[in-house]
Amino acid sequence: MNLSESTQYLQSFIKKVPNPEHIPDSELKTIYQLFIDTLTDHNHLYYIEAKPIISDAEYDELFAYLKAMEEYFPTIISSTSPTQGLVGQLSDGFKKAVHQIPLLSLENSYNAEDIREWAVRVAKLAEKKGILNREYHLEPKFDGLSVECIYHDGKLTQAITRGDGKIGEDITANVMMIPSIPKQISYLGTLQVRGEIMMPKSQLLKLNQQRDHSGQTPFSNTRNAAAGSIKLLDSREVAKRGLIAFIYDQLGGEIVDLKSLGMPVFELPENFLVTTDIEQIITWCQDFQIKHFLEEQDFDFDGLVIKVSDSKTPQNTSNCNTSEKSDFSLFDTETPVNSSEDIRSALGSTEHHPRRAIAYKFPAQQVASQIQEITFQVGRTGIITPVAHIEPISLSGATISRVSLHNFDFIAKKQIKKGDFVRVQRSGEVIPYILGSIKERRNGSEELIIPPLFCPECGDPITNIDIHYYCTNPSCPAQIREKITHFVSRDAMDISGIGEAMIEVLVKQKMLNSVADIYHLTTLQNQILLRKFPSFGEKKITELVNQIERSKKQPLWRLLNALGIPHIGKKTAQDVAEYLALHKVTSLDQMISAFSNDGLADVEGIGEKSLQAIQLFMTNPETLKLLRSLEQEGVQFSAINEKTNPESSSHGTFSLTGTFPIARTDLIQQMQKLGYRYEENPTSGTTVMLIGEKPGSKAEKARKFGILIYENRETILKEFHLTIPIKLKDENERIIQGGLF
Ligand SMILES: [Zn+2]
Repeated sequence: MNLSESTQYLQSFIKKVPNPEHIPDSELKTIYQLFIDTLTDHNHLYYIEAKPIISDAEYDELFAYLKAMEEYFPTIISSTSPTQGLVGQLSDGFKKAVHQIPLLSLENSYNAEDIREWAVRVAKLAEKKGILNREYHLEPKFDGLSVECIYHDGKLTQAITRGDGKIGEDITANVMMIPSIPKQISYLGTLQVRGEIMMPKSQLLKLNQQRDHSGQTPFSNTRNAAAGSIKLLDSREVAKRGLIAFIYDQLGGEIVDLKSLGMPVFELPENFLVTTDIEQIITWCQDFQIKHFLEEQDFDFDGLVIKVSDSKTPQNTSNCNTSEKSDFSLFDTETPVNSSEDIRSALGSTEHHPRRAIAYKFPAQQVASQIQEITFQVGRTGIITPVAHIEPISLSGATISRVSLHNFDFIAKKQIKKGDFVRVQRSGEVIPYILGSIKERRNGSEELIIPPLFCPECGDPITNIDIHYYCTNPSCPAQIREKITHFVSRDAMDISGIGEAMIEVLVKQKMLNSVADIYHLTTLQNQILLRKFPSFGEKKITELVNQIERSKKQPLWRLLNALGIPHIGKKTAQDVAEYLALHKVTSLDQMISAFSNDGLADVEGIGEKSLQAIQLFMTNPETLKLLRSLEQEGVQFSAINEKTNPESSSHGTFSLTGTFPIARTDLIQQMQKLGYRYEENPTSGTTVMLIGEKPGSKAEKARKFGILIYENRETILKEFHLTIPIKLKDENERIIQGGLF
């Protein structure tokens, strides 16, 4: 069995025998050894070659099962098991180096229950040692490569990878090429710090473009790219990779302030730092504001780190020593610098993990899964989209079983075959997409994906234009269905009384043959027909009829969006409607003539090329026929008195980026009370842009749009008379509303 086969074998074994207790005695030894060998090989691919062929979630599943096996059958535990130390993680290219203090990995948690259990364990142990007052600190968990940096009398003398935690690899020469790591600091004696080497997301994009061009496999994420780059044997090549680093911990010695030594330190917004309440920590871990803040950065995080400390001991990471905090130093409780008991040594560590910290892992954003089936979807323009049906996976909290393959050019470029294992990624609310196939996991049974010859819905022959394939049958039921579904959708004519399933039925029944037929549903005869469907009661039909009638007077931008004009989505439709209002369009004829005017190309989002496609669409006899029948049904084509933004408020709109002295939700609420409407993303129409500390890419966007910008903290507070809820760190955790500015 090769690695791919053994992995698959073990995965199906886990499905078959979810509880290791039930493994038959006769199989126990063989299965156990197979787990060890398989995980050791995956460790090697992950740590040494930086080319993992399974996702973290898959690895975690195998690892957890192995651990559970060892718990049930402690007598079988072998010293070569990956649970007994970090096995398979050293390469040959670099000199080995010993960590004087072991570099342990953190225990992982995935939910509130895990964190509570950890807190209970910590509390018991700490109280036994006489540490009664504890507090929890939150730090981001970097998704990069761990490194130990050693300074002697202020000079960076050595940098070592984590390796197996006890022995790593000496990568000093390469770390010298990372600009953000200081080579010289003002410190006497020996200082050992721990940090993370990462590749910025923007840098990965550039690097992968180059690799694509030169025929090399692109890196699947920033962590693999960082790991692959720092292990290059030529330091000059490393310098070109644009790596960065953050230092976040000190290993032994008198506690120092890393930031004041010039170390690159990353800080969470100051509202999320310290608390004595573990429930507060859990709330923060699941707080969308933190997640949002981290997602806006140019590097990847895969979770948060919760550290416990004796509340009398100042935390050694500089998260607590932010300049922001000094503003409120008056309120700080006095903290003695010397503590009699150090919680680090009091809690100690297990073979694997230090006990005083736990990682909270964000739900997976990238998972591997197997393509089981390919189907072809027919869009409203007749375009054929191949869709991969994959073994269902959980990704960022959603279950994914279908992923679009876009077009056949995409399939060819990514060399995706049916039966392939593919990497699927999803971040935030974005539609999941396939990064590429994992060729190492092929077994020869994979099949090429070939464009269909006939439309899967109507059976008409398929036409090939450029990279796309189309069903050109105008009465193809799939196209009619998709057109109608789009027409009634929320951002179009907003007729919610008729759902996708019902549209499909009515198209099949030939009650709906075109978009205009929606307006025939209101006739008495059709209402009687509709009543025959079990899902349509009296009330529902009345509501549907009302919605259809109301839709005739919808703002023009909705109609423009509903028509499915090429290159015109919701936003452009709004801009076009404004343009039509300027041209005083009040009828269909005026609208058609305004569309034939080349001035339309000046509307934002429409260029010369789109203009051609739009004009071609608008002069198409089919389109004209549809527009005329809509006109006959009483649909209005007037752009005058159009309120493009019905929800717009008295002062206009605002958007924001970065962190503020006020929690984001509070800030938004206060601004809304002042009469500003919040926009997630700044546009050319945004009135005001608030830029906080560590702003994301939105700041640049806002500047480009020429939006009125407020970016100084005091200015923002003064200008909008905002109040900061000050969080005092005393025993009652009182919250005082303060009008400081
Ligand atoms: Zn068709």
